[in-house]
Amino acid sequence: MLLLTGIIPVIITRGIILRYYEKNAVSSRNSDLSIQCNILSNYLLSSGYLDGNMSDEVNAEIEQMANLYDGRVIIIDRDFRAVKDTYGIYESKIIISEDVLKAFSSGESSSGYDAPNHYVEVVTPVLDTNTGEGCGVIIACASTDSLMATIDALRRNALLLEVIITIIIIAISIICSRLLMRPFDRVTQAINKIEAGYEQEVIDVKGYTEMESIVGALNQLLSRMKKLDDSRQEFVSNVSHELKTPLASMKVLADSLITMGDGATSEMYREFMEDITHEIDRENSIITDLLSLVKMDKTAGTLNIKEVDINEMTEAILKRLKPLADQSGIELIFESVRPVKAEVDEVKLTLAVSNLIENAIKYNNPNGWVRVMLDADHQFFLITVTDSGIGIPAEAQDHVFERFYRVDKSHSREIGGTGLGLAIARSAVIMHRGAIKVSSLEGQGTEFALRIPLTYITPATK
Ligand code: ADP
Repeated sequence: MLLLTGIIPVIITRGIILRYYEKNAVSSRNSDLSIQCNILSNYLLSSGYLDGNMSDEVNAEIEQMANLYDGRVIIIDRDFRAVKDTYGIYESKIIISEDVLKAFSSGESSSGYDAPNHYVEVVTPVLDTNTGEGCGVIIACASTDSLMATIDALRRNALLLEVIITIIIIAISIICSRLLMRPFDRVTQAINKIEAGYEQEVIDVKGYTEMESIVGALNQLLSRMKKLDDSRQEFVSNVSHELKTPLASMKVLADSLITMGDGATSEMYREFMEDITHEIDRENSIITDLLSLVKMDKTAGTLNIKEVDINEMTEAILKRLKPLADQSGIELIFESVRPVKAEVDEVKLTLAVSNLIENAIKYNNPNGWVRVMLDADHQFFLITVTDSGIGIPAEAQDHVFERFYRVDKSHSREIGGTGLGLAIARSAVIMHRGAIKVSSLEGQGTEFALRIPLTYITPATK
């Protein structure tokens, strides 16, 4: 680009200047020649040259003029006869050319430039000063060879200048492109290192502003990737730990039975086997919850959106959970302010609401209550699950939606919790572009509130 923008103006300027110079030089030669022709015309008249008085003095003058311009002079008398030709070719011959006829008839000079043959020509009538009648015509030609030689020399110099400018521009281009590309090379090297597994937290490349903003964006991406990687590692280690716990319990129970051998009674076998079944159920529920969570983590494209009657959906959930509530004498109350229909994925939303109501039953006091309220405005519907249970300490409220987080691990395990229920509920709500909030007072009760758009907002496709 630099080469093009540098060299094209130089070539154009050279062309224009040379053409202008040639035009000017030719026109100045033409006017010089015209002046000489006029002088000669006066001389011819005063000497009576055209009336047969062809003195050597006038002839010498004509020859000198032809030599001066490295050209040719032809004098024609009123009978169209060439009385003098410095080349000696046309002498005493009749010359009737268009220019000559025009000079006689109009009494005016004409001039022309024959570029291919390198000469200018002036045709001047010799007019009688008294009568104004044409007595003859002077045809004078002047060579432009010397002009062309000057123009050629200029052209050569300009070409040399162009070559020098081109070399300078190429050198500048190479230096500039090296300088511009250097930060890119460093960034590429840093990215290659990261790709090869080299632990690098930030790319530190200084350069011009645009480069720095690219590096800034890359660093943000890196730190996001690192966070994702950390949370993935943490998740994997949590999962392994959670899955190993029931297995470890089963192994202890089975080992005890083996160690006791024949000493173990059939009641002991039954008791141990019941415990083992309990651990298997637990393992099973962790795996089921994990699978639900993985499904929720997938893109919103996996949502199966339909218009669902939310009142019916909530009633069905409560009906299913009633036996669980009855076990602890907990009263389930459903208050619906208005009928609500919304575009949701029924399976995923049912899972979210079930988890909230199940928690409200599980972390409740005996003979307590759970109240589910349903309301809507023109844009959102609202489900609140309130209980009279044990509550969540203020410092734990920010963490309850984290995977595997439990306020009281042993209590949660006792009642069959996996620590994934609220994480699943939150993912389901977020997939619907809704929000979930918790407010709780320890020892008094907890309230979870869901707010979900009535119409599903399709995410913008990329
Ligand atoms: P879990 O399977 O242990 O119930 P959740 O993710 O559903 O896991 O809940 C996380 C933790 O939040 C629970 O272990 C419990 O300590 C607390 N929690 C959830 N819901 C309630 C509630 N309604 N009342 C009191 N504590 C709750």
